[in-house]
Amino acid sequence: MNPKKILIIGAAGQIGSELTLKLRGKYGNENVIASDIKEGGPELMESGPFEIADAKDRENINRLVNHYEITDVYLMAAFLSATAEKVPMKAWELNMDSLFIVLDLAKDKKIEKVFWPSSIAVFGPSTPKEATPQTTVMEPTTVYGISKQTGERWCEYYFRKYGVDVRSLRYPGIISYKTLPGGGTTDYAVEIFHEALKTGTYISFLKEDTALPMMFMDDAIKATIDIMEAPGERIKVRSSYNLSAMSFTPKELAAEIKKELPRFEISYKPDFRQEIADSWPGSIDDSIAREEWYWEHEYDLPKLTKAMLQGLKVES
Ligand code: NAD
Repeated sequence: MNPKKILIIGAAGQIGSELTLKLRGKYGNENVIASDIKEGGPELMESGPFEIADAKDRENINRLVNHYEITDVYLMAAFLSATAEKVPMKAWELNMDSLFIVLDLAKDKKIEKVFWPSSIAVFGPSTPKEATPQTTVMEPTTVYGISKQTGERWCEYYFRKYGVDVRSLRYPGIISYKTLPGGGTTDYAVEIFHEALKTGTYISFLKEDTALPMMFMDDAIKATIDIMEAPGERIKVRSSYNLSAMSFTPKELAAEIKKELPRFEISYKPDFRQEIADSWPGSIDDSIAREEWYWEHEYDLPKLTKAMLQGLKVES
């Protein structure tokens, strides 16, 4: 087997930037090539190789893979749920074209392994809302969800038909303090911490009782690296795994923040994102990931709240 050489596409985003740093720590700075259509933060740019590259540009992505002798690709570039609703065809193009470019590289044996993130957005209003199982009704109503569900089907197809080693997780809403989120429906759960510290108040764009599955960034990165390092025979699901850590409503999150910052106040002004949130599960059953490749989360709501407030205080 070749020594590991990793290409991260969409490395300057919320998840990509932290994933890049973690992988550089693990495999060596020079062995993890970050790429995006825009530059990332200073830590990302200064810690290892970076290339400006459009995930839709097949020729350029192929060139990078050849040039750096890439073995593993993490495809993180995408239009997220709220942004995708504003530009549906552009979102469909990016989310699908980039996936085919990467899957084809693995099919043609130019790379060995692919990570591609799916989302809880693959589910829709007809899906069982609580403890949503791995296999269930999936009728997504957003263009983002449709692109993720379609992507899952193609991942499984490339695995069965061409033996492509593709691994995928249905991320819940990811909460972090280092990089701002990129236009998803769960962004409120990051914004609330910034505003709590800055102004002591927050106006939520979701209703107080809207429960959604969420996860702290460290757990998301751990899950991503764990699934990529697991022996191939343990990865039985080649569409995408349900993945879960916690579930909470804006009201529950605000109450947890109030324990740390007693003067904090929240109010509610739902916008178009409420309809997207209403179509998604409130909680996820991820027992198959826990059984098959021993997934375990570390952060619950109190631990997440403390980590976010601490992290943002140190940063400011
Ligand atoms: P993000 O929006 O923060 O980052 C995406 C990155 O892709 C950005 O840096 C952007 O510049 C880049 N990008 C956009 N168009 C590009 C193009 N044409 N070529 C190359 N790069 C391009 O998103 P994220 O939150 O880091 O999400 C990463 C992945 O995880 C996405 O596939 C997303 O759907 C999935 N996901 C994220 C969440 C979450 O809560 N953040 C939840 C579920 C799934």
